[in-house]
Amino acid sequence: MNAKTQHIRLSKSVVGEQEALAVSRVITEDGYLGMGSQVQALEHSLQQMLGNEAVCVNSGTAAVHLAVAAVIKPGDEVLVPTITYVATYQAIVAAGGVPVSCDVISENLSIDLVDAERKLSAKSAVILPVLYAGNADFMPAVERFANTHNLVVIQDAAHAFGSTVKGALVGATSGIFCFSFDGIKNITAGEGGVVITDNQTVISYCKTARLLGIENDTQARYSGSRSWQFDVKHIGYRFHMSNINAAIANVQLQRSNAFFTVRKALAHHYQAVFKQKPYTRVLQMDYNDVVPHIFVLLLADGIDRDALRAYLLKHGIESGIHYVPNHQLTLFKSDTQGCPNADRLYPKLLTLPLHPEVSVKDIDFIADCMDRFVEEYAQ
Ligand SMILES: *Cc1c(COP(=O)(O)O)cnc(C)c1O
Repeated sequence: MNAKTQHIRLSKSVVGEQEALAVSRVITEDGYLGMGSQVQALEHSLQQMLGNEAVCVNSGTAAVHLAVAAVIKPGDEVLVPTITYVATYQAIVAAGGVPVSCDVISENLSIDLVDAERKLSAKSAVILPVLYAGNADFMPAVERFANTHNLVVIQDAAHAFGSTVKGALVGATSGIFCFSFDGIKNITAGEGGVVITDNQTVISYCKTARLLGIENDTQARYSGSRSWQFDVKHIGYRFHMSNINAAIANVQLQRSNAFFTVRKALAHHYQAVFKQKPYTRVLQMDYNDVVPHIFVLLLADGIDRDALRAYLLKHGIESGIHYVPNHQLTLFKSDTQGCPNADRLYPKLLTLPLHPEVSVKDIDFIADCMDRFVEEYAQ
């Protein structure tokens, strides 16, 4: 393709005939579109893969919401890195928690534990690290921090499906993990999410709370029925997953190793290409372990990100910004200590196209465009 007609998307679902067939089977053969056998099968497969229990819900945001609600009391504080999707913050407040914005470290944009320590209070109950771009290599330090300060760890692993840390898949160790299967994540359900944990209290809370607080409705639905006479003791939500979405995810799960391999290979190539460039810095990540959801660069001082993004788009290359620091948003502004490193890094963040249909040639083309921009505009 020539430069005029090609368009390289920032992210996209890779779905096709198999997913279409699976959805069509739910409609024409099964006829049961709600939460049923497809969801049960997805939870079973995830449990097989990760060794922990799985509770599927209708978004990653709902997964974080339920995981937080399962462990806090209203007003408890949740230490969270400011650079994350606003979904993380909205889920915390929806669950009755108070997000306490923590700074991030420049190497990989993970939560800055020195800053987190400064922001501890008598109300601190949870630390909610975000596995930014899919990286989890800092988690052992977070676990130690949480032990020292008696905090529950909930991992926002929305970016990290398939990543490993110390040889174990994210989600396969003891802990509370929230994944997203939205349209552009490492695998998709269309929309969906899951709480993965070995914590039985969290499991039983999530199973009930996702079905409007109706206890034991999960079992009824998996056997093609539902509860008619019931009591409800706690606030619940309509967060359960549909068979349509689960059918898509069940196919995606079978294709996931292929997706992981491509994403890792592309990120390896991105890293090798951009490591050389004086106008940018790559994040420190080992793409043997990380299945990257996004590929992020930190631009050098003096590079005009908005002008660069416009230039790339003119050449058919989409780009993104992950993310506006949440402590800068009106709803989450606090008059406390702030997050100076995130403020400094935010204008330098640039996300380049990454999904299984990007090619190595696309990456080389993107790098050439960036080189040309720097030559033409940055003098
Ligand atoms: C995608 C995402 C979520 C929310 O997942 P949804 O399925 O879109 O609701 C939460 N946190 C992060 C970091 C995400 O990227």
